[in-house]
Amino acid sequence: MDHQTAARTRLISSSSDAGSKVFATILTRSPISRIDIARHTGLSQAAVTKAVSPLIAAGLVDAPPAAHRDGNPGRPVAPVSIIPDAMVMIGIKVNVDEVIAVATDLATAVIATKRRPLSHHDPRSVLDAIAAVVGELEADLGPRSAAIAGLGVSVSGDVDTASGVVRESAIMGWADVPFGEQLAQRIGRPITLENDVHALTVGEHWFGVGLGTASFAIVTIGRGIGSGLHLNGQVVSGAYGVAGEIGHLPLADPARVCNCGRRGCVEAVASTGAIEAAVSAAHGRVIDIDEAARLSHEGDEAARSAFREAAVIVGTAIATLVNLAGPELVIIGGEGVSNFDLFDRTLREAFEAHAFGAAARCRIVTRPHTFEDWARGAAAAAIQSLVG
Ligand SMILES: [Zn+2]
Repeated sequence: MDHQTAARTRLISSSSDAGSKVFATILTRSPISRIDIARHTGLSQAAVTKAVSPLIAAGLVDAPPAAHRDGNPGRPVAPVSIIPDAMVMIGIKVNVDEVIAVATDLATAVIATKRRPLSHHDPRSVLDAIAAVVGELEADLGPRSAAIAGLGVSVSGDVDTASGVVRESAIMGWADVPFGEQLAQRIGRPITLENDVHALTVGEHWFGVGLGTASFAIVTIGRGIGSGLHLNGQVVSGAYGVAGEIGHLPLADPARVCNCGRRGCVEAVASTGAIEAAVSAAHGRVIDIDEAARLSHEGDEAARSAFREAAVIVGTAIATLVNLAGPELVIIGGEGVSNFDLFDRTLREAFEAHAFGAAARCRIVTRPHTFEDWARGAAAAAIQSLVG
């Protein structure tokens, strides 16, 4: 990190509450006038002007000359804008078989992407893979790598962002791994460790659908079933870093054992692995998710029944989430979206059957997030942790 980036990082992370609000507003709504920043943050115009000045001086925010006025003295209407090139962030999504890394600018526009397969998913192998992709990104960025302000790393499971500990990740087979500290030592840069679905939600909150929607939930289907909640303009993290774990709602038959070791979890029926296991057992051979989807399209009863059962339980879980939290929109994402035609109708029927009253007005849409989008979410989470 060069001196300029270090100074910018210090300025953002040491800002007052008002300063943080102003910076976050410019970051996500740029270009925006000072009047609109005041309206949006509830701060006085004087407070906004006071907060904007050091951001301009540090090269984080651009403002046209003060001559642009609307004829109303003291009320500059010319908008201020974020300078995206002022910083570079690295976002990394850790999957069980691959790490996906992006370098982004301050507005999380992707500058470069790297992927590396994982033959083992023990913490040491994942550290090695992350160190390798970060090295490749730095080489690609050249002199611009001096502007890297930090890394956001997202992992499935119960992640304590404050201490950087992965408390439980069934998919990775990790328990109480101080991965944030290990990464910081290995990479020598500030690390933000976050649950993967929460990171994706931060990305949508700051730079995606969250800008036009006060309350939404992201539900991801695939190897795991997760959700992220964004209520009244805030991403919900939970007092202990756990919130919105709909994959582990006990809505299924207790005979079904989950990856997490508990019984009757949604994930024990609806995850990719659960669908593969059900279809494989019925056919007496190993069948992967792509073949299971093909069999279902061909009318194979075991495959159809496995997808139907998954769709019912995910639809019921979404109704439970919507009844409790009341979002106006549910975005279904995750790699399972590629087979969503096999879920769609049954999932919506189950949702409608269990949604209480006006909660049924909640819209359900799909969004095919790529793994680069997930990595971008990790970069957004790192920027958010900087802003505080
Ligand atoms: Zn579970």
